[in-house]
Amino acid sequence: MDFELESEEQEFDREVEGFLGENASPDVMDPHPEQLSQTVDTPEKRAFMGKLAERGWLGMSWPKEYGGREMSGIYDFVLTEALARHGAPQPGKGVGIVGKTLIRHGSDAMKRKFLPQILRGEIEFAIGYSEPDAGSDAASMRLKAERHGDGWILNGAKLWTTSAHFADWYWVGARTDPDSKHRGITLFLIPMNHPGLSIRPIWTIGDERTNEVFFENVEVPGDSVVGQVNHGWTYICEALDLERFAMMPIGGLEKKVEALCAHVHAAEVSGRPLREDPGVRRRIAQLVTELEVSRMLQKRVISAALKDQIPTVQSSQYKLFMNECGQHVADAALDMMGPDGLLRPGEEGAPLDGKFERSYRYTVVDTIGGGASEIQKNIIATRGLGLPKNF
Ligand SMILES: Cc1cc2nc3c(=O)[nH]c(=O)nc-3n(C[C@H](O)[C@H](O)[C@H](O)COP(=O)(O)OP(=O)(O)OC[C@H]3O[C@@H](n4cnc5c(N)ncnc54)[C@H](O)[C@@H]3O)c2cc1C
Repeated sequence: MDFELESEEQEFDREVEGFLGENASPDVMDPHPEQLSQTVDTPEKRAFMGKLAERGWLGMSWPKEYGGREMSGIYDFVLTEALARHGAPQPGKGVGIVGKTLIRHGSDAMKRKFLPQILRGEIEFAIGYSEPDAGSDAASMRLKAERHGDGWILNGAKLWTTSAHFADWYWVGARTDPDSKHRGITLFLIPMNHPGLSIRPIWTIGDERTNEVFFENVEVPGDSVVGQVNHGWTYICEALDLERFAMMPIGGLEKKVEALCAHVHAAEVSGRPLREDPGVRRRIAQLVTELEVSRMLQKRVISAALKDQIPTVQSSQYKLFMNECGQHVADAALDMMGPDGLLRPGEEGAPLDGKFERSYRYTVVDTIGGGASEIQKNIIATRGLGLPKNF
């Protein structure tokens, strides 16, 4: 059993690290990256995506017939992790969720239209599953899509759509059969600036913007449907498995633990070096162990994905444990830093420029977005252990 990357993969990792060093810029890289924060929301970040595309680093594992290079998915993983370590934007939504789902289920016309744009890093997507009464139970979504000639008219609302305010396209689920739950959902691709769509911001506890999106008689042509009508739930479930995997890198957490370890080595609180405090030593040892367990759980996900399995249970275990580890790290950091730890990024005297104050607030969100921790436990209990549902 060997957990290390092969030599070519290590070489690729070094190449990406070199590129990221040369292209380091505060306009593109977040000095305090958090799990869900690495979005492509400015022209500078779009230009950065273009540079990744020029190097052929977007869609490396896609089939050649769709412009990919048929490389092992491990290269996508190496790239994603390096970007996460540097706080750089992530290509996961387009390449990992929309692209991979279109390759499996999209029409030829949709593949021709979207896949080349994704590979050129030109296009951004927002993902619309959640609604006011359909979050954990997303299959209860009620956004109504009714047939209208050859097309559809959509009415209703979505909630928590991150990226809606800068994305080009909306990857959105709607109810096309009111008499069926899971088999009554269809997935659509709609321009984000379509007449009848309006967007209202919601600011979350970690300073991250997400949105409400309202649909008022949004009329779209029939070819806006992804795959088959009423099959959307299957595609969404596959995409959610990909999301927990493709969009949940561990690199940001590794950097946080590294920063906290350095702080413990160097800092003093009330004249006493932290490194000599037995409570601090016990806690940091526990945290680096949790980080290592998270890494191992992630490797199990990657290993299953590389064998073309959909790693449902492994993804849930990884997301659950890694996100909770992130909370434990932020919690411990604030305890170790004393009152100064409560100073925000940019405030004078904030230890590590308020990195962990923000992290303490942001990591609350990690255990909700992409499926709450309770839901991950349900998945592990039912699909992993075969326990009955609905208890
Ligand atoms: C920052 C952020 C960004 C997001 N971005 C997007 C996005 O881009 N697109 C999108 O579609 N959605 C997005 N979401 C929505 C996210 O997926 C939902 O918030 C999440 O699925 C939980 O749904 P809910 O908020 O409606 O909570 P609810 O489903 O109402 O849950 C409330 C609580 O009850 C628990 N609970 C619910 N059902 C069960 C059960 N069966 N068993 C045990 N416990 C249960 C939950 O775990 C939770 O603790 C985002 C959320 C956040 C916070």
